[in-house]
Amino acid sequence: MRVWRRLKTAGLSFGCCLLALMAAPAPAAESTDRFDNFRMREGVPLQLKTVAPDLYFLYDDLSSNSAFLVTDEGVLVIDSRQHPAHGRDLLERIRKITDKPVRWVINTHAHGDHYYGNPAFKAAGATIIAHRDVAAGMIKNEQLEFKRRLAFFKSLNLDPAEVKTVLPDLTFDSRVTLKLGGRIVEIMYLGPGQNPGDTLVYFPHGRALYVGGPFANNNWSNMSFTPSMDGWIALLKKIAAMDNVDLFLPGHGDVGKRQDVLDEADMLAEVQKSVKAAIAAGMSREDLVKNLRFPQFASRRNYDRIDVFLEALYHLYTTGKPLFAYP
Ligand SMILES: [Zn+2]
Repeated sequence: MRVWRRLKTAGLSFGCCLLALMAAPAPAAESTDRFDNFRMREGVPLQLKTVAPDLYFLYDDLSSNSAFLVTDEGVLVIDSRQHPAHGRDLLERIRKITDKPVRWVINTHAHGDHYYGNPAFKAAGATIIAHRDVAAGMIKNEQLEFKRRLAFFKSLNLDPAEVKTVLPDLTFDSRVTLKLGGRIVEIMYLGPGQNPGDTLVYFPHGRALYVGGPFANNNWSNMSFTPSMDGWIALLKKIAAMDNVDLFLPGHGDVGKRQDVLDEADMLAEVQKSVKAAIAAGMSREDLVKNLRFPQFASRRNYDRIDVFLEALYHLYTTGKPLFAYP
């Protein structure tokens, strides 16, 4: 509890626009222990890729991805990684390319693996942007996020006591267009996919779209937060139909093509169909988890976490609400 109290205190570094959201963060309703199930494995080595002029993508197979745009007027970062030390590592990688200041950090969704690196960028003077529902999720699920990442911290020898929730300085509702060093960056919200507030970031000069939460290339995604699987599938189809995009940069997995986005939509549809049919046939939660195995998707990353994903879907379809709902 000491850690939690310290986290709450440390979380008070944010813009005034969020004060109204800060009242009484609710504790997670369900035990989170079994959701803290990171397992160390042989991952693809970390890769920093140049995906378009001045646009870099850090593919971190063991943890989560991030991206950054370098311009003459400064740097824009998308997602800050899963620990303050990993945020500092990202900043060091940026420093090897440019000495320009990091102006902006965008947190695409309210999962700690995409914002626990915020302290490094806050200390460097960046302004952190997120959708209002992402900010609300970071507040509401602060304790849950910390708990469900303890195994990751332990496996990588990262100090949990260093973790702080640094909230966004600035929130938006639907769309923000930034101009930085002659580049355009379009920050968009098209409705929830994997999460409320799922934010997309479009780089017209590179015909590239960063899709943090909804798209995880060749992965199983956590289904505990989505308010609607149909909405998530429809969002992926909408994203895949964007004819001004060639590169789809996922929150997890390698750089994707249009077909990879459609493949995820198909997989979610197939999983949803089977889970709904099992519930309609009267299957219990335990039997559903035991019987539905989806061998056709067994090679996808995170397949070892299928049990908790199926439990989350069972919860969604039997209660009408996500297991971990917000805002
Ligand atoms: Zn993630």
